[in-house]
Amino acid sequence: MEQITSDLAQTITGFDLWHLTLPVVSRRDHGIGSVESAIETVALRLTAESGAEGWGEASPWSVFTGTPEASYAALHRYLKPITIGRRVCDSAAIMAEARRTVAHCTEAKSALESALLDLQGRIAGVPVYTLLGGGAHKSVPLSVSIANPDFDADLDLMRRLRDDGVRIIKLKTGFADHAFDVRRLERIASDFPEFEVRVDFNQGLEPFEAIGRTRSVAEFAPAFIEQPVRADRFRLMADIRAAIDVPLLADESVFGPEDMIRAVTEGICDGVSVKVMKSGGPTRAQTVARMAAAAGMCAYGGDMFESGLGHLAGVHTLTATPEISLGCEFYHARYHLAEDILEEPFPIMGGKVIVPEGPGLGIRPDPDKIRHYAGCA
Ligand code: MG
Repeated sequence: MEQITSDLAQTITGFDLWHLTLPVVSRRDHGIGSVESAIETVALRLTAESGAEGWGEASPWSVFTGTPEASYAALHRYLKPITIGRRVCDSAAIMAEARRTVAHCTEAKSALESALLDLQGRIAGVPVYTLLGGGAHKSVPLSVSIANPDFDADLDLMRRLRDDGVRIIKLKTGFADHAFDVRRLERIASDFPEFEVRVDFNQGLEPFEAIGRTRSVAEFAPAFIEQPVRADRFRLMADIRAAIDVPLLADESVFGPEDMIRAVTEGICDGVSVKVMKSGGPTRAQTVARMAAAAGMCAYGGDMFESGLGHLAGVHTLTATPEISLGCEFYHARYHLAEDILEEPFPIMGGKVIVPEGPGLGIRPDPDKIRHYAGCA
């Protein structure tokens, strides 16, 4: 076999982790749980023989995907030994072994693949999106979620978003009584007609109320309604889809390609939320999006509670994936974290995310911020 002689054949020599606690500016309530005061993520830095570095982030949420402790342990105990000593260019083989080495822990696997891609891009001098297929989108419209139990605070946020050029919001519903959801939908329709409104229940509805409440919300004609019931209630998702006239999207029901097969077969949705943290990395996220498109479904780029580092993996993935056509939700770095960890602001301009054109992910984490939020400063 012909030998690869480029710098991409060098081996990976370093694998370092930090468990970060990142303060946030506001409480956020979702159908399955709340986030208050801080989010927790795990930052991964790979180092190659030459000293080149690649970064990735695992951004779990305990009620949705998993815990930061599980992400850290998966990376440290199980994925580090299969990565050290491997060639930088062998990411597909490393990721296949990662899936055999530890079940679930998709956020940890996403951090690993993101860091491998960042490392490859930095050594090759190209942006990560070119490694994933090239630039299908020049910029990605940003959707910001409205999830504060203090709706007056969210009204202030929506005025700020409007001034910033953001034109998509997603109302988080199903965490309080139905009257609260209806009151907020009415107020948004009357005071903020500029916004395209999407609705996300985050599994918040009980089966007996699900069709009635979803129909009521559908009367406001949102662009779509997302995941009204628990992730495993595929039959009920299909029933709700048949009962409403607006598109129904799946989020928690679809993590990776295996779930997507079932979602298509059982007809539970018209579209899907694609997240690198659910799929186990950018390449499997692309697979989910392509499967959705092949079934005639739409897709948008979602996120977990992430820093700008997690967002970067997401935006490079979306940029190279034309099947993801409904924008993205990479808003935490700008609108939710008290301070992001990147050296430069995560790039949002005029309500759109702009993919960085530099090598790798294009922006590095600030080492001082990493140490500070890991409690090492
Ligand atoms: Mg969702």
